[in-house]
Amino acid sequence: MARPEPSACSPHAHRVLLVFPPHTRNTEPPLGLGLIAAFLKSSGIPCRLIDLTTYAGPQLALTAEPIATHRSRRAARHIREAVDVLRTPAGYEERSRYRSSIEFYASALQAASANKPWHLTPSDFIDSRIIDFGPWAAEKAVSIAWETPWIPVYDEVLAGSLDQFLPTLVGISVTYRPQFLPALSLAAWLRRHAPSLPVVWGGPFLDSLPKDTLAWMSAFAGTVIQGPGEQGLARILRIPPPAAGLFRDPCFDDLDHHSYFSPLPVVPLAASRGCVWRRCAFCAESTGQFCADGLDELFARIARLADCHQKCLIHFTDNAIPPATLSALAARGAPAPWYGFVRPTAALADYGLVQALADSGCSMLQLGLETASQGLLDHMRKGVDSTLYPSILANLRRAGIKSYAYLLFGFPGEGEADREETLRFCAEHPADFLNASLFSLPPNAVAARDSRDFDLDLIASPGDRYLRVVDDTRPRLRRWLSGSFLRHPTVRTMATRTPRYFKSSHAPFL
Ligand code: SF4
Repeated sequence: MARPEPSACSPHAHRVLLVFPPHTRNTEPPLGLGLIAAFLKSSGIPCRLIDLTTYAGPQLALTAEPIATHRSRRAARHIREAVDVLRTPAGYEERSRYRSSIEFYASALQAASANKPWHLTPSDFIDSRIIDFGPWAAEKAVSIAWETPWIPVYDEVLAGSLDQFLPTLVGISVTYRPQFLPALSLAAWLRRHAPSLPVVWGGPFLDSLPKDTLAWMSAFAGTVIQGPGEQGLARILRIPPPAAGLFRDPCFDDLDHHSYFSPLPVVPLAASRGCVWRRCAFCAESTGQFCADGLDELFARIARLADCHQKCLIHFTDNAIPPATLSALAARGAPAPWYGFVRPTAALADYGLVQALADSGCSMLQLGLETASQGLLDHMRKGVDSTLYPSILANLRRAGIKSYAYLLFGFPGEGEADREETLRFCAEHPADFLNASLFSLPPNAVAARDSRDFDLDLIASPGDRYLRVVDDTRPRLRRWLSGSFLRHPTVRTMATRTPRYFKSSHAPFL
């Protein structure tokens, strides 16, 4: 296969088009591309950022023919209003109006998938013709690109940008799993419309793909950059790499905050990269590096962003906001409300700190509780004390900070007694919102590397992103989750209150 190479012309001849492909939650701008755009612009490279998630889903919903059900016909009558209202504060003021708008949107997307081999929801895209992530899957995705819903979107939005902006390079960022297939359709579309235009692939999702798949993508269309994209792009464009390291103000100048499904501008920002703890045995971050933005630099950055995006919500995208940053937020305050992930450590059992966080503008904390069983937490190497969970949740409630609890079921060694303990804990100490997921093992997690310590018999299937466990308990677990856990009235209330599809992205507003 011919592979377009980036040209070796002067850096000042370059013009870079950055594209965030469909389809994922369209609630906030993509941080990674905002950081790349800021780096390129500061290096004098003209660049334009296009976020197709704001356009693709809503457009498919607006143009879908209803199927022959009452629900679908009703959604078709209300979809225009639903899409409009989800972009305004009014859409989030009343629960019932929010819920019906989301359901109209979901029904319209379902109609767009009727009698098609793909399935679309407001937050997901699955194509039944492609079942894994091997190189054959990438090749198939390219070969069926014209039989997917994305090509009309690219015709409508990207064709004009190619003509007007005249890019010399296109960067495609794949951050989430549902973007993978649409991104390959995009590469196929570019190959047809601009065959000599070099493509650079980036984004964190690529780190979880099999190496053969990355090699295939690279051979088909352009260069794959793994890890921070700035260094790779600097090499390709022959410009100096960023002098100030990984942290800078993201640039979202090309994006319209009003096009997102959000009541106010949401500004993503990372106070750190990697994870400050990086020891949890089930987590891909457990083998990565950690670095944090300087506190003075971070607070200056927050002030500039809050000034630039008036009346915004800051979303800290950190795997876990570092303890020093959390203390500094409590001590210094923030000029805009904010939310993010934290580790459920002893610090949050101190009501003084939690109240100071609320005073600083904290509207919601996402807590990786995983399980209430201390034995299991220790086995996971989570490094937290579950006896503190009740006071942490009580402190958040008293201070007016919403809590979003993440639970993990099925970690090797988990027994029925552990699960029942977690169920009892949830019944007695409910969080505001709940995410219960089943254990999947990334190949670079500690439990995969030291599988004998965890008594794991693993199967690596070439096209999978996760390792499979020989003694797979997931079917039994699914039955327990739906038959026992989610049937408990308190757990059911938490699960029902949790925004469908948009999850933590909409929870701060409800
Ligand atoms: S689960 Fe969270 S705290 Fe644990 S290593 Fe991963 S990112 Fe860090």
